[in-house]
Amino acid sequence: MIWDLDDTLVVERPAAEAAVAATCQHAAAVLGVNPERLEQDVFDEAKSQWSALPTIDFARRVGIASWEALWATFEDPGREFSDLRAVRLSHRQAVWRKAIERQTSVDPPSVEELSERFVVERLSRMEAYPDAEPVISQLHPEVPMAIVTNGAPDTQRTKLSLSGLDRFGLPTVVAGEIGIGKPSPEPFLRALDQLEVAPERAVFVGDSLSRDITPASNLGMTALLIARYHHDPNSIALPEGRCNVITTLHAVQQYLSPGRD
Ligand SMILES: [Mg+2]
Repeated sequence: MIWDLDDTLVVERPAAEAAVAATCQHAAAVLGVNPERLEQDVFDEAKSQWSALPTIDFARRVGIASWEALWATFEDPGREFSDLRAVRLSHRQAVWRKAIERQTSVDPPSVEELSERFVVERLSRMEAYPDAEPVISQLHPEVPMAIVTNGAPDTQRTKLSLSGLDRFGLPTVVAGEIGIGKPSPEPFLRALDQLEVAPERAVFVGDSLSRDITPASNLGMTALLIARYHHDPNSIALPEGRCNVITTLHAVQQYLSPGRD
């Protein structure tokens, strides 16, 4: 049984949006800006400036999202991460500054204060989805389990520890550690190797058709799409293979037959 992390086990995009929204409400109070407009501008600036950094090829290869760079510390070994550490503070401050400057002028201390406030807001929203802990508890330790996640190791392990899911000690393959992320087969194969399970006997659960379900299915795994935010999960077009849509992690139990991990 192999899990994706972001928006499968832990709340990622909605938590980032809520943290940006809370920070923008504060910006509205102190700077008089329109908070909703600022929210959109922060995500836009984060994306365009992240794409313009010389580190973008590596960031794309291992799947570090532009909004994660607004709080990530990148305390990981390797030249790529030291390059990211070198730009992280100026990057996150430039994102907030340019987003605010679309509405009003702003001084450097206010920019610094807002960009640090966002980090606090984001770190206070490190939560697992309500079904994650109970389902893993039920399966652990009888069913061998692992996590395969894109992103920077420090970032992803922070999510695991602050959400409490690290208590299970599941083997975790982080794309940043091996230099390549999903949808490449490499991280999936690493996890299968660690579990000593053949792909045909493994179940993968993720929230992305392109990064989780299609590559897992191509490797011969049973691939389950967790559709938490779809209005009509039955209408989702799945790739060929043993794929299915689930709307709660509790549904994984029925795919675990004897002899399958
Ligand atoms: Mg995900």
